[in-house]
Amino acid sequence: MFEIVLIPAFKDNYIWLLVRDGRAAVVDPGDAAPVIAELAARQLSLETILITHHHADHQGGVADLVERWQPRVFGPGDESITACTDPLVGGERIEVLGQSVDVLAVGGHTRGHIAYYVPGAVFCGDTLFGAGCGRLFEGTPAQMSASLDRLAALPDETLVYCAHEYTEANLRFALAVEPDNAALHERVARVAALRARGLSSVPSTLREEKATNPFLRCGEPAVIAAGMAHAAVDPGKVAIFAAIRGWRNSF
Ligand code: ZN
Ligand code: FE
Repeated sequence: MFEIVLIPAFKDNYIWLLVRDGRAAVVDPGDAAPVIAELAARQLSLETILITHHHADHQGGVADLVERWQPRVFGPGDESITACTDPLVGGERIEVLGQSVDVLAVGGHTRGHIAYYVPGAVFCGDTLFGAGCGRLFEGTPAQMSASLDRLAALPDETLVYCAHEYTEANLRFALAVEPDNAALHERVARVAALRARGLSSVPSTLREEKATNPFLRCGEPAVIAAGMAHAAVDPGKVAIFAAIRGWRNSF
């Protein structure tokens, strides 16, 4: 397995550096400078870039990194990705630093959004966040709901390496949806303590997300009731997801 190193970028982005046997890869380098600094400090060169989707805060550093190291660039094939050498659609198994990585199609935030899974860790970009999920900029609620189902089907102990520190704001919304969820209250306290010390709330485990993330809980009675009270047209999972996601947008 890789060593996984957090590189903060911009206001609340996380770039993930993967290191294995003196080899390095990076997930969603929105900015090249902090990646170059971390690689220099570790005396590593960059072999591979993994991109989850086309937004600038996820691929803005690719051009500079490619100029310096000529890494392979994996990314969604139906999105515009700088210097992409290996277009993907989901369902592929690729090799990264000598390790097998499964590519998952998780469209919704953007149409072609993909995630990268190795046993123990998933790099899910802006699809699943700590206690939340990405906005639907391009996809439909049905597509995003299916994408979240695909992530939720991974083993419970999987660590969720998302691309933003949004957990505290997401938890405030989650409490509005499920005020009586004890696991949620416990998480709020734990995340507040981490953030007060300047620490990241990411990664979480998929087990924790299933217990506290309203967007993974659209089949739970409390979330169904909240969704029905906020414009769900029927108690089906996609309708509840759409209602909760819409509510979140204006929360
Ligand atoms: Zn994005
Ligand atoms: Fe983003």
